[in-house]
Amino acid sequence: MRIAITGGAGYIGSHTLLDILGDGHEALVIDNYANSSPEALARVKSLSNRTFEMSEQTITDQPSLSETFQQFKPEAVIHFAGLKAVGESEDIPLTYYEENIQGTISLLRAMDGCGCKNIIFSSSATVYGLPDYLPFDEAHPTAPINTYGRTKYFAEEIIHDWTKTDPAKSAVVLRYFNPVGAHKSGMIGEDPAGIPNNLVPFIAQVAIGRRDALSVFGNDYETKDGTGVRDYIHINDLASGHVAAVDYIAEHTGFEAINLGTGRGYSVLEVVAAFEKASGKPIPLRYEPRRKGDLANSYAECDKAKRLLGWHAQFGINEMCEDVWRWQSQNPHGYRDN
Ligand code: NAD
Ligand code: UDP
Repeated sequence: MRIAITGGAGYIGSHTLLDILGDGHEALVIDNYANSSPEALARVKSLSNRTFEMSEQTITDQPSLSETFQQFKPEAVIHFAGLKAVGESEDIPLTYYEENIQGTISLLRAMDGCGCKNIIFSSSATVYGLPDYLPFDEAHPTAPINTYGRTKYFAEEIIHDWTKTDPAKSAVVLRYFNPVGAHKSGMIGEDPAGIPNNLVPFIAQVAIGRRDALSVFGNDYETKDGTGVRDYIHINDLASGHVAAVDYIAEHTGFEAINLGTGRGYSVLEVVAAFEKASGKPIPLRYEPRRKGDLANSYAECDKAKRLLGWHAQFGINEMCEDVWRWQSQNPHGYRDN
């Protein structure tokens, strides 16, 4: 298939691009490098030994996106582009609505303009909000508790309404749990700008000596050891979930929301222990109060992905940490080392 990948230079986009090329598809990446580097795409090119098209532009510029689509004529779009920091979304909500909502509408219009009827969208477990029950299945009520989560929820609804305008349209929204890890080669990985918001990139920077200690946000939750529990999923499993979703939308129409997780939760202290084992480095800890808006527990029910996509996660927490450590130790300052 001819697949346009918005945000294809980013963390999840670059790993997915590699698998999409490996599966024989033709790709066009659209990215404005707001949170990524051309170096990631150069590395995907060398790892895949394949070429793909690249257009440096913002998805919110609808006329120019339409022009790009008229030329490339995508048969499907994988939509990663957007802003993703929960804390920042509370400070600049309008920017988040512009990028994540206006960007999605602009994309759907560009797709309509060239007759493209298939989309896979990066959603998030944050759309569920506080758990009524666990694990979160796709039927769980959606009641996000922050602006970022609401942008994902609204974008899902907009895409759902868009599919209703034509029985040939097909959309899969993938609700990711906690993506971590890096490609086995150590050549591509997560490269956060500034202080990492997420647990595993922060631990990796402590291990490499860029930060002195990990702040553990809360050790009085009702969990196995008092620290927060999350469903971490290896980035290569996430990427292969997108390849499976491409196969699915090629054969099915309508709208589906599907969790991508492992179904198993790990506490902060369990992740720290796995990373210490993988890296051979001690991770000094500093206990701090709970982070505002954090859940105690979040993990996925993954039956729907298995049933519809024939997909399930293969890698465990040890491989996730080993692969992050390979990437971090080969690239102590991420793509900026190049
Ligand atoms: P990322 O920031 O690494 O990638 C996003 C990419 O989109 C970047 O390359 C950025 O430059 C690009 N981009 C941003 N705004 C753009 C615009 N207006 N036009 C063109 N390109 C633009 O983030 P990621 O971790 O790879 O996340 C990808 C998607 O998955 C996002 O939509 C995110 O909300 C979603 N998601 C991520 C996580 C996670 O923990 N990483 C979890 C759930 C959902
Ligand atoms: N966490 C932590 N210290 C950090 C970053 C995260 O203790 O520097 C904890 C956080 O409170 C949560 C877990 O690690 O319990 C995962 O956090 P992350 O931000 O990676 O994912 P999210 O909370 O968005 O699911």
